[in-house]
Amino acid sequence: MHAFTYTRAADVGGALQAGAAQGSAYLGGGTNLLDLIKGDVAQPLRLVDINRLPLAQIRELPGGGLSIGALARNSDTANHALVRQRYPVLSEALLSGASPQLRNMATIGGNLMQRTRCPYFTDVGFAMCNKRNPGSGCGALQGRNRMHAVLGGSEQCVAVNPSDMNVALAALDATVLLRGPQGERRVALAEFHRVPGNSPELDTNLLPGELITAVELPPAWPNARSRYIKVRDRASYAFALASAAVLLDLDGQTIRAARVALGGVATKPWRATATERALPGRRLDEGSLRAAAALAVREAHPLRENAFKVELAQRAIVRALREAGGVA
Ligand SMILES: Cc1cc2nc3c(=O)[nH]c(=O)nc-3n(C[C@H](O)[C@H](O)[C@H](O)COP(=O)(O)OP(=O)(O)OC[C@H]3O[C@@H](n4cnc5c(N)ncnc54)[C@H](O)[C@@H]3O)c2cc1C
Repeated sequence: MHAFTYTRAADVGGALQAGAAQGSAYLGGGTNLLDLIKGDVAQPLRLVDINRLPLAQIRELPGGGLSIGALARNSDTANHALVRQRYPVLSEALLSGASPQLRNMATIGGNLMQRTRCPYFTDVGFAMCNKRNPGSGCGALQGRNRMHAVLGGSEQCVAVNPSDMNVALAALDATVLLRGPQGERRVALAEFHRVPGNSPELDTNLLPGELITAVELPPAWPNARSRYIKVRDRASYAFALASAAVLLDLDGQTIRAARVALGGVATKPWRATATERALPGRRLDEGSLRAAAALAVREAHPLRENAFKVELAQRAIVRALREAGGVA
């Protein structure tokens, strides 16, 4: 483990000032960053503790949406009355992740930024990892790749974005609010995370020194039905092999509109837009949904050990849609 200094920021301005120094990293709940520091995967020179900043508020927005502060804990967010009533898919996704103790510490900002669980990344004993050490190669491409991505990968990296919350936020069309040395900006969740391409070391489009201050959700669809399905090796305390977050607007048993996002199978939270376009007008029967779900994996590139994820992703979508519609 490398030595680092520790600063506790008293306000957002102070955090930004400290965070602007090269080698700084913001400390949220620490449930991901501290493990990476202990494993020598991350080597920040300075930790800027942001836990005293007034960014934990969850509040209704004037137009009917919701603002969730970057320091709201995962458990507080999942159990907040407005989240449970209006965005239950977010509550479900958060509660499916980690353990109660971890969710009590983990923050919304930290969850957005959590790094992949690819073992070639998290274990510095492996020499090859383009994400950790650009140009060193990808150990997973020809190695053990059962847990890896079938969507959004490149020759450089096939590591999965591990977050459950991000999948729900993708389906909900969330926006990420940022403060940085250049001021404030808003980034759609779909544009926040990056596919690896030729720069796998960059997981997101956050600029150096930028601080996530909040996530905003647009007003919930009236009468929306939703569901988060997570398929994993163990019933709890395991990352997704495949997951699906869906929102449905129904006219009886016929779909008027739908949103579908996938997790566990892609290098970033993955909106299944072709599936979404195919769903309006379909009924909730298995065959009809299955045909739409197949469109989500049309461009899948399975690796030696993970072709099963192509099937699993489709089943997760169909099950989530049927359960959301109350027919499963
Ligand atoms: C054993 C275990 C099991 C887990 N299982 C799951 C699971 O099943 N599903 C799941 O989704 N997650 C799971 N997690 C991951 C967990 O959700 C994340 O560790 C957590 O959400 C990270 O939040 P944090 O506040 O602790 O982040 P930190 O560890 O504090 O930070 C993580 C990263 O975010 C940056 N950061 C933090 N806040 C900000 C901010 N406001 N602005 C800019 N950058 C910021 C940090 O600099 C760091 O790079 C698991 C974790 C563990 C340890």
